[in-house]
Amino acid sequence: MPRALILVALLLVVSSARAKKGGFEDEMHPRVADKPLEIVFTPWYCATCLEEKRIEGEKKDITILRLPVAEVLKLAEVSKNYYVIETPHFRILSTLKRDRIKWDTRFAKADAYRLKEIFPRLKIGLQGFSVNAHQRAHLYHIRAERIFAHFSALTGSDKPKSGGPFKQTRWLGMLAPYQLLLWDDYSQHHGVTDALIGRQNDKAGLQHHEKEDPNFMVYTTADSLIQGSERAFNNHVIHNIAHNLCDGFGNYYRQTWAFIEEGVAHYYERREAAAPNTFCWAEGTSPTLFNKAKWSKTIRNLVLRKKDPPLGSWCEKLRPGELNGIEQGLSWSIMQWMIETDPIRFTRLLEKNQDRKNKPTAAEAIHYAFGVTPNTLHERWRAWVLETYPLKDR
Ligand SMILES: [Zn+2]
Ligand SMILES: [Zn+2]
Repeated sequence: MPRALILVALLLVVSSARAKKGGFEDEMHPRVADKPLEIVFTPWYCATCLEEKRIEGEKKDITILRLPVAEVLKLAEVSKNYYVIETPHFRILSTLKRDRIKWDTRFAKADAYRLKEIFPRLKIGLQGFSVNAHQRAHLYHIRAERIFAHFSALTGSDKPKSGGPFKQTRWLGMLAPYQLLLWDDYSQHHGVTDALIGRQNDKAGLQHHEKEDPNFMVYTTADSLIQGSERAFNNHVIHNIAHNLCDGFGNYYRQTWAFIEEGVAHYYERREAAAPNTFCWAEGTSPTLFNKAKWSKTIRNLVLRKKDPPLGSWCEKLRPGELNGIEQGLSWSIMQWMIETDPIRFTRLLEKNQDRKNKPTAAEAIHYAFGVTPNTLHERWRAWVLETYPLKDR
């Protein structure tokens, strides 16, 4: 085929992979080609929406971290301008302030039109749209459910299972909704983590597993911790929602290998916007190699220069903070490869992680899912990088 034709063919493939509905991009089903992903964000409960007659029903008492909301707010020293929303899969508490949302994230327009279904008078402009504090809380309601819908479809969790290695619930195996606490200021966030979670460093937000029955996953963070735009805060929140979904998958009473957990978190974050990136970095400064937005170029260069450490040498690491700079970037790319080229085997890998009886190593789980050693898998991924990344700039 002449070069120009090959290019045209490739461009067609790329553009058909992007769903354009009314001129903007929305989520596609991760397992079915050309099928738009259904994002369910109704029904929801929100006391303010009830007062404003956006929803019908009775007033409900909602608990956060197993306490009545009023007690949690007392710890945060918040008495007004807060919103509590129960969605199909999340319980969200937000004290975030009003903001302006630009079209600088991938699904911003699609989310704006979903938000308009809740707030019909929302004005969607040429450059973006403005949200008040209540609307911003619901924007995170929509974003969280969108990521949930994607991860759920990706792992086949949107279909009821018969049998299987673990008990399936509507929360991917967890026994109660995921909780998301989005504070405007660090002091509010810290008041709650200090009293109820009690761990030292909460400055990158805090992921927490409430282990008693019914167990659930919490992520709490504050807007003031993130320097920069709303886009930066969105990336940070999406990264950490992805962490919790990954851990919650199959009910969280084990650890998830860092290359999966961190890779999936980077994957979801970078689908929103290629920068700025969130690093779950235990100490010191974040990886300078990946400060730029174009990670695929960096990774292609690492592969070409054979500077990519083989997966077998780092796949057993458990904490995201244990991954070094190069491994942070590679984890993203390896997960992108698995998710976008073989979601079934990706899911088998996650399922093997649930095998609490045999407690497999990462190498054993990789063998179970892909039938090869981690280093053979690494070679396959390298071939994909060399074939694919010249065409991608994300
Ligand atoms: Zn509301
Ligand atoms: Zn992370």
